[in-house]
Amino acid sequence: MDNINEESTENNMDQDAEHVKCLIIGSGPAGFTAAIYAARANLQPVLYEGLQPGGQLTTTTEVENYPGYPEGVTGPVMMEDFKKQAERFGTDVRWGLATSVDFSGPPHKVVIDNKKVIEADAVILATGATAKYLGIEAETKYAGRGVSACATCDGFFYKGKDVAVVGGGDTAAEEALYLSGLCNKVYLIIRKDHMRASRVMQDRVFKTPNIDILFEHNTKDLYGENGVEGAILIHKMGTPEEKEVKIKIDGFFLAIGHTPNSQIFREYLNLDDVGYVKTQPDTTRTNIDGVFACGDLMDSVYRQAVTAAGTGCRAAIDTERYLGEKLSDSGS
Ligand code: NDP
Repeated sequence: MDNINEESTENNMDQDAEHVKCLIIGSGPAGFTAAIYAARANLQPVLYEGLQPGGQLTTTTEVENYPGYPEGVTGPVMMEDFKKQAERFGTDVRWGLATSVDFSGPPHKVVIDNKKVIEADAVILATGATAKYLGIEAETKYAGRGVSACATCDGFFYKGKDVAVVGGGDTAAEEALYLSGLCNKVYLIIRKDHMRASRVMQDRVFKTPNIDILFEHNTKDLYGENGVEGAILIHKMGTPEEKEVKIKIDGFFLAIGHTPNSQIFREYLNLDDVGYVKTQPDTTRTNIDGVFACGDLMDSVYRQAVTAAGTGCRAAIDTERYLGEKLSDSGS
């Protein structure tokens, strides 16, 4: 099966391509902001929305920390606003998923849905990252009703309540600390007998009185009528002392890492150990001429809508300058 796909992709790369000046892949805050700036700079951007039009924000409920929405806004509505604004200046927004790339140009080639080939003078990558989940059925059942992968986005809705964070890394420590300032009690569920987080973060977590660390606990299930009301954990799983533990919580936060959506760029771009695209210092330029990266695809630290939008703006400005330099080099 793999062979058939590879073969068909190769053939597709040879077919007549549609040529565009600026191609943007991804439709979260980074992609649409890049589109707004690129369109206003007359780069006539074409944007492919990807598997999840609107990106990760479409899975959150209320967004209250994005400047400009004093009353808050739902994730889907906000992303619809981003899209309308990008279209207002002429961005050609299209359905479709980038399935393979050939960055041996410029021009660079991107195959959409294993079929259509787009050839671009410059490509802005804004494919984001996907939060990792445990893979238990309850995570889907309670999505948006007690299960979240972003404490900064959703923590506020659990003010004064008891919640749990899963994970023992820096993200989990950060999320637990953030929630400890809002919630009555925060359980930190860690599968090992130690944390992976940096020493300084661990110290902060240990010193916070309303964080209750549950080492050597795994999550078996969540329960609740109309939303999460509790979790069933297994203590010392797989040992003779194994036992089931129930905790009462209203919110269940995953902080077990993110996977940047960089798989199809792996062959061409410099990535870090986790898969985030490395950009050159103080720019959104990648190691390939004419390929720029923005948003959660290249940011493992902040991962906020507003920071993603900021890097999207930078990517469009970098692209405009790059295309301008190319034009003046070619003397046209
Ligand atoms: P990490 O990969 O560092 O940690 C993931 C945590 O989740 C680990 O404790 C891991 O457990 C646990 N985990 C993974 N899968 C499961 C599972 N199926 N069930 C239960 N637990 C699981 O990810 P982070 O997002 O925390 O950090 C990513 C990178 O970003 C790191 O380099 C980190 O230092 C950095 N970062 C830096 C920050 C800062 O400087 N302020 C803030 C946030 C992140 P185990 O240890 O057992 O594998």
